[in-house]
Order: sequence, then structure tokens, then C-alpha cells
Amino acid sequence: MTKVCVITGGSSGIGLSIVKLFIENNYRVFNLDLTPSSTGDFCQCDVTDVTQVRNIIDHIASEHTIDVLVSNAGIHFSANIENTSEEALEKVFNINVKGAYAAIKSVLPHMKTQHSGSIILMASDQALIAKHNSFAYNLSKAALASIAKTTALDYASFNIRANAVCPGTIETPLYHNAINNYCDKSGADKTQVHAEEAALQPLNRLGQPEEVAELVLFLASDNAKFITGSLQVIDGGYTAQ
Ligand code: NAD
Repeated sequence: MTKVCVITGGSSGIGLSIVKLFIENNYRVFNLDLTPSSTGDFCQCDVTDVTQVRNIIDHIASEHTIDVLVSNAGIHFSANIENTSEEALEKVFNINVKGAYAAIKSVLPHMKTQHSGSIILMASDQALIAKHNSFAYNLSKAALASIAKTTALDYASFNIRANAVCPGTIETPLYHNAINNYCDKSGADKTQVHAEEAALQPLNRLGQPEEVAELVLFLASDNAKFITGSLQVIDGGYTAQ
């Protein structure tokens, strides 16, 4: 039987790989994103608008059983605390954390009624460790790890699982934008910075979005039915150092 997955931020990078892999595995996927995409069922949505997210998810739930939520939409912002303006902090927090709050809060009543569901939050290795010049992003990803644990505890009795995926550096448009911004500011060479970034990883390469999608598919499946409240690291060994 076709299962249903709702994802946020499924038009690019890791999210797009998740949409493609889930469709290949017989899921129908509703993609809530700002940027239009022809892969999956696209729903124009700004995840910072809690009412808009709830209305879209309620509409999907009126016609389908939502088996899986992947809360993935996120942005990066490079700066230490002194260089993070209140506006920048609010922007990162609103998309990365309030967006997850909106999506999770919206699916829970439906998952409770059906007494099943798997919620997967796209956190980061920065939920576990800090990286330089990433004040707002570090903070937002640590918050997502907390949301995964809290949701797992509060909704285990409804047979709803919640887990956070913690990728290391994955080659996506978000990664390339971060490198480009850094090089534009510092004058560093992009090819060299990219090579240095790969060399920082114990496996000596960056991760690929398809690799993260495989982990998400596993967490969504019944093969992971005893896994909840966990932080799943997929980082080529980076945080083991
Ligand atoms: P990406 O920039 O390629 O994709 C992000 C998607 O989110 C885009 O489709 C964008 O349109 C969407 N989005 C942004 N703001 C939105 C909003 N307000 N409402 C709805 N959609 C919105 O990024 P990515 O690298 O694929 O990252 C996806 C997730 O994975 C993010 O949460 C990111 O923090 C996390 N992550 C990425 C890496 C990495 O190295 N790329 C590592 C760890 C975690």
C-alpha cells in the first residue's frame, strides 16, 4: 500500500534526495517548500507561518493518513554571537526551529488519532558539537535535538516515534552557498577550501544527500520501530574525533 510522507524543504539538496528516494519506495510525498519543485506533490509554504503549515497539513490529512513527517527545511548563517544581529537570530530560529514546531504540532493530532507515525527532524552534527562562527545555527540545531527527544517521550504512548538525523558536511546548495560566502568575505580560493573541508572528515570526503536520504527512509520504516528519541549521526566520523 502507498504510504504518505510530508516533508518540509523538499525542493533542494537533502530534502530533494529524500523526496526522490521515498517516491522510489512507493511513498506519496507532499513537499512543503517556498521554492517550487516538480518532484512529488508540491505545496507552496513558508514554514515560519504556523497557520499556513497547519492548514496545508490538515488538508492533506483530510484525504490521507500521514505516515511520516520529515521536518527538513533549514538555513545556515555564519557568524559568532557578536556578529549575529537580532534579525539574523530570529530568521534562523524562525525557519529552523519554529518551522519544525509548526510541522510537528500540525501532524500530531492526526498521528494520535491513527495511533502511529514517524517524525524525523533534520538536525546536524552541530546539534552535538559546536562549529566556529555558527552561533545561531548551532543553537537552532541543538534545539531540534531537544524537540526530537521531548516529542519522543510525550508521544510514545500514541505509538509515534521522533528522531533527529545529524548529518555532517553534506554537498548541497546550502553547503556551496556557505563556502561561497566565506570565500567572498575572506578572498580564499573555493577549490582549496572545498579540498580542506573534505580533508577534515575521517573518511576524507563530504557526504552526499542520497546517503542521508537512506537513513531517513530507514527511520521512517518499520525496521526502525524500536528507535525513538535518538540522535542519528551521519558524518563520516567527524564527531568521533
Ligand atoms: P538546501 O538549501 O539545499 O535546501 C533547503 C530547502 O529548504 C530549500 O528547498 C529551501 O527552499 C527550503 N526552505 C528554506 N526556507 C524555507 C521556508 N521558510 N519555508 C519552506 N521551505 C524553506 O539545504 P540542505 O543542505 O539540503 O539542508 C537541508 C537541511 O539539512 C537543513 O535543515 C540543514 O540545516 C540540514 N543540514 C545540512 C547539512 C549540509 O551540510 N548541507 C548538514 C547538516 C544538516
